[in-house]
Amino acid sequence: MQRATSLRTWLKYLEEKNEVAIIDKNVSLNHEIAAITKKLDGHKAAFFTNVENYRTPVIAGTATTRQQFAEALNINEQELHERFLAAMDAPLPCKEVESKDAPVHENVILGDDVDLMKLFPIPVHHEKDSGNYIAAGLSIAKDPATGNQNVSIHRLQVSGKNRLGALILPRHLYNFYKNNEEQGKPLDIAIVIGVDPVKLLASQAIAPLGQDEMEIAGALYGESVPVVKCKTIDVNVPAYAEIVLEGRILPGVREPEGPFGEFPKYYGPKSNKEVIEITAITHRNNPIFQTIVPASYEHLLLGGIPREASLLNTLRDTVPTVRDVHLTLGGTCRYHLVVSMKKRNEGEGKNVILSAFAGHYDVKHVVVVDEEVDIYNLEEVEWALATRFQADKDLVVINHALGSKLDPSTDDGVSSKVGFDCTVPLSSKVSINNEPQEFERISIPGLERVNETEYLLQQVQVQEEHKIYFHEEK
Ligand code: MN
Repeated sequence: MQRATSLRTWLKYLEEKNEVAIIDKNVSLNHEIAAITKKLDGHKAAFFTNVENYRTPVIAGTATTRQQFAEALNINEQELHERFLAAMDAPLPCKEVESKDAPVHENVILGDDVDLMKLFPIPVHHEKDSGNYIAAGLSIAKDPATGNQNVSIHRLQVSGKNRLGALILPRHLYNFYKNNEEQGKPLDIAIVIGVDPVKLLASQAIAPLGQDEMEIAGALYGESVPVVKCKTIDVNVPAYAEIVLEGRILPGVREPEGPFGEFPKYYGPKSNKEVIEITAITHRNNPIFQTIVPASYEHLLLGGIPREASLLNTLRDTVPTVRDVHLTLGGTCRYHLVVSMKKRNEGEGKNVILSAFAGHYDVKHVVVVDEEVDIYNLEEVEWALATRFQADKDLVVINHALGSKLDPSTDDGVSSKVGFDCTVPLSSKVSINNEPQEFERISIPGLERVNETEYLLQQVQVQEEHKIYFHEEK
C-alpha cells in the first residue's frame, strides 16, 4: 500500500493514526503558526484550518520523526538508508499526464491576478526574519543543456505580489541559471507547494548533476510520479501537488533577501540575491498551503536522512565494514556524525574519519565507535567517548578546511574538523581463562529476557500485606 504519494493521502494516514492536530482556533501568520508547530514538533503534524484573513489551511510538520519518514516509505527505520541508496541507484522516470487529469491544474491564475500574499497564507516564522517566506517549496527547473530536471528546496522571501527573493547556493539549480544568465536569458522555474514527505526527502538527495530527484521519489514509491507540463513555462511538476508557482529567475537582477532563521538555529544574513518573477499560479480546488518551520525536526531530518545515506556509501568505499551512520539532531543533522563499524585492521577508525570529512563539507565532528555501540542512543555514544578515547592517539584534527558557511564559529566557512576514534584497540580483545576482556562491557545474564512486570507487586498487596514497610517513622 502506498501511504504517501500525495500530501492528501499522507494526511489521511496521519489522521487515522491520530498524528495530526487540527487547530481550529484563529491564528496569525506572524509567528503563531511557527510557535504551535514547534510545540508539536516530534509528536504531531499541525493543520491550521482558521488562519487570520485566509480561507486556505496551512499544514506544517508532516513528518517529524525517523519513524514517520520510514512509515511514509512503508519500511522500518533501520531500512531508511539502504532504501534511499537503492532508489538513487535505480531512479524511476516520471509519467506525464494531461492537464485535465492533473488536480493541480483545477485552477489557473494569470497576469495581474497573481498576488502571493492575497492568495496564500505564507507565514513569518522567526522573530528577525525579513518577512513572509515560502519554506517548503520544491524548486524544479530544467537544465537547458540536457533537458533533465532538477529538484531542490530554497528559502523564498515574498518580495512583492509576483516576486520572490531566493537563496540559491552553488549547486545544481545555480549551474542552470548561471549558464542562462551568461547569455542574458531567464531560467524557467516552478515552485511546488504541498507535497508528501517522500518527495520532500527525495529532493534532498545528494545526487549528481543531471539526476532528477523526482525520479528518485518514483523509485522510493516503486511507482512513477505523475507529472504535468506547466501552463506558462517548460517544466513538469507533480500532478497531485497542492499549488504550483510558475516563474523565471531573472538574469542580472539582484535584490535584498534575508535575514532568515536557518537550520543551525541562527539567522542567515541579508544580502542581494537572485529574484524569481511569478508568471502564473495553478492550484487544486481547496488548496492546502504547506510550510516547514526552519530548524524543526522535519527540516533537520529532511536534510539528515539523505545525507546519512550518501555518507554511508562514501564511508563504505573506504572501509567496507562500516555498519551505519547517524547525523544527530543536536548537530543540526549536518555537523555531527556518529559512525559504527566493525574494525578489522588497526587504524581503520581514522580512515573513516578522513573519509567523512571528504564526504560532505558540512561534517565537522566525527565520532567512530565499534559496532555494538547503539549510535542512535547518545548516552551510549557519550559512554564510548568517555571510556574508549584518548586524545594523544585517538584524536584527528584538520585545520582550515571548508565547512558550513552557516556555522557562525567558522571564518566564512573555513573550519577546523575534529575526529574521535572511539574504537577499542584490536589487541585488547583477547580473553584468557574466561577473565573479562579489557574493554568488555559488564552484562547481567537474563536482562533481555526478564519481564519486570511479572515481578511487581500489585498496589493492593502493598497496602494490605506490606504496609509495615511503607510508613513514616515517628
Ligand atoms: Mn540535483
